[in-house]
Amino acid sequence: MGKATGFIEFKRGKQPYRAVPERLLDWRQVMAPWPDDVLKQQASRCMDCGIPFCHEGCPLGNLIPDWNDLVYRDDWQDAIARLHATNNFPEFTGTLCPAPCEGSCVLGINDSPVTIKAVELTIIDHAFASGWVKPEVPAVLTGKRVAVVGSGPAGLAAAQQLRRAGHEVHVLERADRIGGLLRYGIPEFKMEKRVLDQRLAQLAAEGIVFRTGCHVGVDWSATDLVRDFDAVLLAGGACAPRDLPVPGREFMGVHFAMEYLPLQNRRCEGDSVPDHQFISAEDKHVVIIGGGDTGADCLGTTHRQRARSVHQLEILARPPDERAPENPWPQWPNIYRVSAAHEEGGERVYAVSTKRFLGDAAGHVTGLELAEVRMKRVDGRVSFEEVPGSIHALPCDLALLAMGFLGPERPGMLDQLGVRFTDRGNVWRDERWMTNVPGVFTAGDMQRGQSLIVWAIAEGRSAARGIDRYLMGGSDLPAPLD
Ligand SMILES: Cc1cc2nc3c(=O)[nH]c(=O)nc-3n(C[C@H](O)[C@H](O)[C@H](O)COP(=O)(O)OP(=O)(O)OC[C@H]3O[C@@H](n4cnc5c(N)ncnc54)[C@H](O)[C@@H]3O)c2cc1C
Repeated sequence: MGKATGFIEFKRGKQPYRAVPERLLDWRQVMAPWPDDVLKQQASRCMDCGIPFCHEGCPLGNLIPDWNDLVYRDDWQDAIARLHATNNFPEFTGTLCPAPCEGSCVLGINDSPVTIKAVELTIIDHAFASGWVKPEVPAVLTGKRVAVVGSGPAGLAAAQQLRRAGHEVHVLERADRIGGLLRYGIPEFKMEKRVLDQRLAQLAAEGIVFRTGCHVGVDWSATDLVRDFDAVLLAGGACAPRDLPVPGREFMGVHFAMEYLPLQNRRCEGDSVPDHQFISAEDKHVVIIGGGDTGADCLGTTHRQRARSVHQLEILARPPDERAPENPWPQWPNIYRVSAAHEEGGERVYAVSTKRFLGDAAGHVTGLELAEVRMKRVDGRVSFEEVPGSIHALPCDLALLAMGFLGPERPGMLDQLGVRFTDRGNVWRDERWMTNVPGVFTAGDMQRGQSLIVWAIAEGRSAARGIDRYLMGGSDLPAPLD
């Protein structure tokens, strides 16, 4: 612990962001770096607790007090070594993670938690700038071949771990670029794709083979894949979107968030997406249905496309500003949050349900009919009842459905393999991370359901150890989740 009184002397600082009027004019990342001296003060707020609950809060088990202390002491190189020991991609989590570690920081009991996420990001930024992130090529090869299906954070973390264990690793991705939701879901203004590309350069230099445009189950039969490799990891995400089957759903102008966001990401990558294929919010009344992160990503995108008005609807009531008594520390705080996209504008509407879409004679959406709702809990089951007389309409020429995902897509790869599913519709696995098909493993959203990048990395690392054990009879790979 560098400074015994840091948590008394310094208050939690606020993450710097670029000014709203400036950032709305471009697609560049909105988060700005912290000055080193301020960040070091922030790191010194860490109390080096006897029982660091942040270790538990972080699915990766990041050694947070260790690197807070090293940052305070200006030892950035040791800090990145300690951070990389548990997290393959701190630049992704440092930028995008909602930071469950901060929710369980002991300082949060009676003060604001340490800015753990900002410290993490600054460490890895220093490491890239100083040339400390180098390829770690395996000294000995095992001769075993592993196929990783899906190139999101789960697949990439597993691939890097397996390569470092000496296996030949092929990452197969159906999209034209590597990255999963990091590439085509998360907008450029939240994380610039150069951040992803600089890490992919390291993975490629370590010898991981990337194959894009390779849809397993279509271009390569899944059963052939199992025959052609010694082990297969299914890390295909949970891409089946939740629909809203109300009257008028078929009107033109009603789209899933993941039909909308990738098109802008492609334009940001420099791809020419013709106007007739592009979905633009320019000059439109936009309604985003879903109050979560995906909805917020749609919101920030619509601002930059110069929407006329934007409403973001949420069926749940507005969360409280402070933790509710039934949501105590160290649980994840279910409180009202304002993301960067919310700071930029738009109106958030809580406790409403969409009854139907309204449309014109040409079949284009023109509005939404909404009802206010109250949540009821009967025998632990949640339902919503309409508030009498609360029906009203909102103008809308573009509706974006951001209500989450139902689970993995079954046709093709999963059906061909005959994998078993959990009651929640995700791919089932045993304690070795293996599905019911011998030699076929799974990790990330595909087995967990829609989740977070930090969980995907943690699961990728854990499944990698399961695979290494399966192939070699034992494994020295570190893993957080078994
Ligand atoms: C819009 C959006 C914003 C988000 N923002 C955040 C955030 O800010 N912070 C956060 O922590 N989490 C965020 N998430 C969640 C996070 O992105 C996911 O939890 C995470 O990416 C899951 O990683 P994964 O590797 O399991 O799957 P994915 O990232 O979904 O990657 C799966 C990949 O597998 C490929 N694939 C699927 N089937 C096949 C097949 N048969 N053959 C070949 N390839 C296949 C897909 O094309 C895809 O590229 C967001 C999600 C969305 C949708």
